[in-house]
Amino acid sequence: MPDAANETDRIRLRRAAARLAWQAERVAPPLDGAAWQDGLDLLAVAAGLKPVCLLGRGDIDPEWLDSARAIAADLGLAVRDGVGWLPAAPDDALPRWYREATATRLRGAPVVYVYEDSRVETDIAALATGDRVGAAEEAALLGYPLCCVAEHHTKTLALEQLTIALLARIAGEDVERLQRLVVAGVTPTPREADEWRRFEAVAAIDPEPFTSINRCAGCAADRDGPADRIGRAYRALATELGYTPPAKVL
Ligand SMILES: [Zn+2]
Repeated sequence: MPDAANETDRIRLRRAAARLAWQAERVAPPLDGAAWQDGLDLLAVAAGLKPVCLLGRGDIDPEWLDSARAIAADLGLAVRDGVGWLPAAPDDALPRWYREATATRLRGAPVVYVYEDSRVETDIAALATGDRVGAAEEAALLGYPLCCVAEHHTKTLALEQLTIALLARIAGEDVERLQRLVVAGVTPTPREADEWRRFEAVAAIDPEPFTSINRCAGCAADRDGPADRIGRAYRALATELGYTPPAKVL
């Protein structure tokens, strides 16, 4: 009886949504909004809207992360520790010392992958070296529009190149010192007006509401673009499951 099975799935999803909402409410600002969004991404994986979600990227509340792992496992999803990634870049776009240092930093900052279909396991295992990932691969893994991921990759590369230029001001050409700074995640503040302009142009992100997508300029201008359609599907899922966002997410 597929309808009954479907209804059982929905009841399990609603229960998981209630637990995730309760856990997100316990998270103190400023991490509460991110916890709520990560919870919705997790529910989107369980609902089949998204192949993989990544938890623990950037600042995250550790207690919330433990709860989210348990809730994902209760939903029958696979929960695996792994290594995050940075966008692939042309060979000559970033110096070798910098690539090595970012790979070391990634390997030292584990993330949690949540997924349902075991076919993505090979892709996730391949990321463990700290290798960079192309836009098409990232878009497929996360269920994001390629246009948005490609634009975000272009901006990230420009931001990395600016960071390298600013690091040289601190450490000159001392490669070992430069690598230590990158591994420690040091991102120097721009000083000149021109640097600030470059920084602001590439560091700005424009999230599609109800998703973790950084939408591209095309999607931001298109009310029926790929990012908007995904945003509407996630919003509908949140509404259906009674997963109410904190006021500031709306
Ligand atoms: Zn887009």
